[in-house]
Amino acid sequence: MSAKYMRLFKMSSLLIVFLFLTTLFAEPNQGPADANKSKAAEEKKISRPEHKHPAFAERKKEREEMVAEQIEARDIKDTNVLKAMRIVPRHAFIPENVQKQAYGDYPLPIGFDQTISQPYIVAFMTESLGLEPNSKVLEIGTGSGYQAAVCAEIAAEVYTIEIVEGLAKRAEEKLKELGYPNVFVKAGDGYFGWPEKAPFDAIIGTAAAERIPPPLIEQLKPGGRMILPYETNLGFQHLVLVTKDGKGNISKRKVMPVMFVPMTGEVTKSEK
Ligand code: SAH
Repeated sequence: MSAKYMRLFKMSSLLIVFLFLTTLFAEPNQGPADANKSKAAEEKKISRPEHKHPAFAERKKEREEMVAEQIEARDIKDTNVLKAMRIVPRHAFIPENVQKQAYGDYPLPIGFDQTISQPYIVAFMTESLGLEPNSKVLEIGTGSGYQAAVCAEIAAEVYTIEIVEGLAKRAEEKLKELGYPNVFVKAGDGYFGWPEKAPFDAIIGTAAAERIPPPLIEQLKPGGRMILPYETNLGFQHLVLVTKDGKGNISKRKVMPVMFVPMTGEVTKSEK
């Protein structure tokens, strides 16, 4: 081999070694970029409310006023909750005959002898759950689906159970139509919770009972919070905030007097 070819051979081997080294060193640098990409893809998989339905653009002024006069005025401060209450079109969850009152400071009938809670109570209960974007929530008493939608604006996933089949079906359809892919509705008795999806960061009960269903306490994550109306044997009701610490210890705190429809099903049958 001539000296010229020898030099060319050496240079090309050097080039190969150089290319090999650059790919070696390039690998770890590409790592984080790839990780970011797959993280973004994963985040995409978590479905968020869509807000494309025309109802979101309707009656905005009334929602603004509702938040200012009924909710902020009563000291609800969680900005996620205030934002959610401004976004969710409450009027889309209630029947024709009460449309005018949609943003009033009171509960309203939703058929099947049930009611949608007063906006302030919805905001108060949601705030006391301390929801975060990655929270998984369980609701007992879907009713119209409104409270579930408010939670779904903040949390990652909302699982909601309704004992009246007609209501469960109607709420499921409504939530689908409005674009809430992160709410999952089940017809059944909420007493038993939703064990397949447990544990939950937060549990909200919207029907009053004389005791807290033990499966719900079990399905609460350590560090989790649960709020629900409790009825005393004299028929008075108050909201109870139940917290579970890291060791699984439960503490309960009475938070405010309320009036909710009764929880039916298993809770009325078994021992008190
Ligand atoms: N959160 C609702 C209001 C619910 S009113 C909303 O935003 O519209 C309470 C609901 O709890 C009623 O629809 C009632 O049928 C339901 N309910 C009562 N007992 C129940 C039980 N054991 N399991 C599930 N739902 C129950």
